[in-house]
Amino acid sequence: MKHVEGTILGAAIGRRSFLKGSAAAVIAAGLGSSLCESQPAVADEKKTGASEDIVKPGTCRGGCGAGCQMNVHVRDGKIVKTSRRKQSDPDVTRVCNKGLTHALRVYAEDRLKYPMKRVGERGEGKWEQISWDEAITTISDKWKEVAEKHGPRANGFLCGSGNITPDSQHGKRLCSAMGATLLDAAQDRVFYASFPPIVGSFKGAGGGGRNDLKNAKHIFIWGFNPSEGDSQTFHYFLRAKVEHGAKMIVIDPTFTIAASKADLLVPIHPGTDGALALAMANVLVNEGLAKEDFLKSDTVAPCLVKEADGKYLRLSDIGKATVGAPEDKCVVRAEDGSLGALGEVANPVIRGTFAIEGIEVRTAYDLLLERVSEWTPEKASEICDVPVETIRELAHLVQDGHNSVNIGLGLDHVTNGMATFSSILSMCMIAGQYGHPGNTAKGMFRGEISIGWMPYGLANPKGAPGSQVFYSPALLNCMESKKYGDKDINIKTLYIWDHNLFGTQVGGVRWRKFLEDVELLVVADVVSTSTTNYADIVLPACHYFETETASGDDTRYVFHNAKSAEPLYESKSDFDIFKMLFEKMDLQEYDFKDIDELMNAVFDNPTAKKINLTWDRVKEEGSVLTFEPDDRVMGQEGTYGTPTGRLQFYQESIPLDTDYGQTIDFMKERLPYWEPPMEAWKENPLAEKYPLVFTSERSKYKVHTQYTRVPWLLEFEDEPYVAVNPVDCEARGIADGDYIRMFNDRGTCTLRVRFNNGIRPGMVVIDHGWDLDQFVDGFYCDLLGYNVTPVVANSYYFDTLIEIEKATV
Ligand code: SF4
Repeated sequence: MKHVEGTILGAAIGRRSFLKGSAAAVIAAGLGSSLCESQPAVADEKKTGASEDIVKPGTCRGGCGAGCQMNVHVRDGKIVKTSRRKQSDPDVTRVCNKGLTHALRVYAEDRLKYPMKRVGERGEGKWEQISWDEAITTISDKWKEVAEKHGPRANGFLCGSGNITPDSQHGKRLCSAMGATLLDAAQDRVFYASFPPIVGSFKGAGGGGRNDLKNAKHIFIWGFNPSEGDSQTFHYFLRAKVEHGAKMIVIDPTFTIAASKADLLVPIHPGTDGALALAMANVLVNEGLAKEDFLKSDTVAPCLVKEADGKYLRLSDIGKATVGAPEDKCVVRAEDGSLGALGEVANPVIRGTFAIEGIEVRTAYDLLLERVSEWTPEKASEICDVPVETIRELAHLVQDGHNSVNIGLGLDHVTNGMATFSSILSMCMIAGQYGHPGNTAKGMFRGEISIGWMPYGLANPKGAPGSQVFYSPALLNCMESKKYGDKDINIKTLYIWDHNLFGTQVGGVRWRKFLEDVELLVVADVVSTSTTNYADIVLPACHYFETETASGDDTRYVFHNAKSAEPLYESKSDFDIFKMLFEKMDLQEYDFKDIDELMNAVFDNPTAKKINLTWDRVKEEGSVLTFEPDDRVMGQEGTYGTPTGRLQFYQESIPLDTDYGQTIDFMKERLPYWEPPMEAWKENPLAEKYPLVFTSERSKYKVHTQYTRVPWLLEFEDEPYVAVNPVDCEARGIADGDYIRMFNDRGTCTLRVRFNNGIRPGMVVIDHGWDLDQFVDGFYCDLLGYNVTPVVANSYYFDTLIEIEKATV
C-alpha cells in the first residue's frame, strides 16, 4: 500500500519525524508562534474588550455541533486568540479547549497557501503552484468536457462538515445548477432517519430541551459519551444529577467520563442494545408495568392493521371516507365492538384480532407484543452479556417516575442501528416516557434552529437541472456493477470541500480504488490533509474567521460571524471559490451576488419571519436568541409530528433514502427487532480470524480530523493509540505501551496500545480523528467495513472485525 510521506507545503513531515518531533518545536517553527498569546484566555467580553485588541464575534462551526460563539481577538490585523463570549444564557456562554486554539489553526504550519496542481503520482506529494485563474479554468474546462462526453452526472461533488454554514455549502447549489452528482457521506443517517417517523421530530429532539433534564428522576445515557461527544450538553446532565438528584444510568461498552459519573453502569456487549431494549419491554409487559392508558392516548397501539398488506385499516376501507381524504383516518375499535376514527373513540382496545367487513385485522400493539414476547431477559442476557437481574432493574427504573432516555451516535455506527433506535423508542412508549416534563426519549442533540446546513431550497434553485444524490457507503457497494439502482455510476471528476474523505469515511482502500476512475480530483481545504495530498488540484480555502456569515447549529441562538482578518496568503472562502466557478461555467443566473444576498435568502422563510429574524438584525445584534426557555417537552400537547399525530412504534410505510436495487422485507422493518451486526458479531465465521470489534470514540482534542495538528493539543496526546483490555493484550504477548498492528482483510494500521480495564474484552477503541501520516504505518480508516443495510445507507464505523499483534517498529 502506498502512503503519503510529505505535506504539500514542502515542509515534509514523515510519519516517524512527525511522531518524534515535539509539539513545542512545531510551535516554534510555525508562523503561529509569533502571533498567538502563550495561553488562551477565558474571560467575558467586557474584560477582554478592555485590552488593545479589537474583539469580533466568531463561531466555532466545524462538525462538533455545539457551535459556540466566541470572541476573536484581533491585533494589528492578526487574530491573536479566542475567548469565551458572553450570551444572555449562561449555559451557552461556553467554549472548550479546542475552540481556544483557533489562532493556531489560522496560522497553522500546514495551512494551504496557494492553488497547486499535482506534478507527481497521486499521493506522491509533488506539486506546482498555479494561479487561481489557471486552477478555475482547468476545473471548469474539465467539467464541460466531461459533461459533453459522459453527461453532467459524471461530475461529482462531495461536501463534509468542516465548516457548517450556508456560504461554505454554496457548492451544493453549483452542483444542482450543473445537474451534477452530489455524493453524501451518509454519516449518522440512521440517527437522522430514525426519529422523524417514530416520534415525529428531527434529530428526535425538537420537543425535548436539555434544560428539561432537571425534571427527570432517572437519566439514561445510552450509546454516547456527552462529556466528549456533546461537550456543551454534559453540564445539563451533571446539574440534573448534582442539584436535582436525578440518578444517572449509562449503557455503554466502555468506561467513559460519563460512565464514571453513573449511578448504574451497564457495560453491554457492543451491537446488542436493541436486544436489551426489547427485553426491558418484555419485563414491562410481563410484570404489568406497561402504561396502557398512555399507549391508548399517545401511540398507534389501538390502530388496526390489515393482515393482508400491513397497512392501517382506514375509514375508507369500511366505506366511511374517501380514500386519501383528510378525514380518512385510522380505524380503532371500542370495547363494545363499535368502530371509530383514531382519537375519537374514548377507550379503544389495544389488544385483539378481528374480522371487520371481511378484512382480517390486528391491533398494532398486538403486533409489537409479538416481537417483544420472544425477548425474554434470559435470552437477551446471553446476547448482551448483561445479567438478568440488571435487565429487570433497568425495566423497573425506566418506568419509575418521569425519565429521560438519551440515545447517541454510538448506536447508529452498527448495521442494526435503525432497529436499535426503533426498539429503544418503542420500549420507552411502553414505559409511558413521553409528554410530561422530565420524560422524553430523544436523540443526543437538541437540533432546534439549524441554519448551518444549506437550506434545501437554496441548494436546489428553481429552474436548475438539480443534483443526483448518491449515498457514498452504498456507492462503494455498487462499484462492480457500476449501477446504483437504475442509475449509472460514472463519476469522472470529483470536487471535495470541507471534508477529509480519507480521514473520516469508511472504506478507505475502496475509496482509493473508486478514485482510480476519476480523471480530475479537486480538493479545497484550509490545511493539508491526507485527502488534499491525493488531489490533482488543491485549492486553499480560508479559515472561517476570515469570512463573514451566520451560524446556529445546535444552540437556540443565531450567531453573527464577522470577518475578523483578511484571508491569509492566496486563500479564498468557499463562497468566493464557487462564485468563480459559477462564472466560468456560465451559470451566474443561479448564483448569489454576494454574502448579503445569500444570507437574506437564508432568512427568507416563515419561521424566521415569525420571530423577526433577519440578516440585518443578526449583524447588528451579534447574536439573536430565537426562543426561550429551553425546557420544552415533546408531546406535551398530546400530539406528535408523525403522519398519525401519534408515537409510531409501527411504521405503515418505510421511507427509503437510497434505492440501489436492494430487497426490503417491509413486514420486518415495520416493527422493532434485533439481529446481529452484519460483520462485528461473534458468530460470524470471520470472527475466528478477526475476533476483536473495532470501535472509536470522540476525542477531547479533535473533531473528526480538525485540530489534529494543533500544537497545544498535541502536547496532551502526541501520537495515536488504541485502548485495549489487558486480557486481550496479554493473550497475544503484548505489553502496555507496545506498538501493535491492527489488521483485517481490508487494511492494516500500526500504533501504540494502552491497557484499559474500562474497555470490554473483545473490543478495541481508538480516539477518533488522527490523519493518515500520524500513524507509524497504515491507517485505521482502511480497516472499516462498508456494509450497508437495505433501508438506510449509513457509515457503520463500528461494524468492523480486526485482529491485533505486536509490531516491530
Ligand atoms: S469544538 Fe465544539 S464545544 Fe469546542 S468550542 Fe468548538 S463548537 Fe464549542
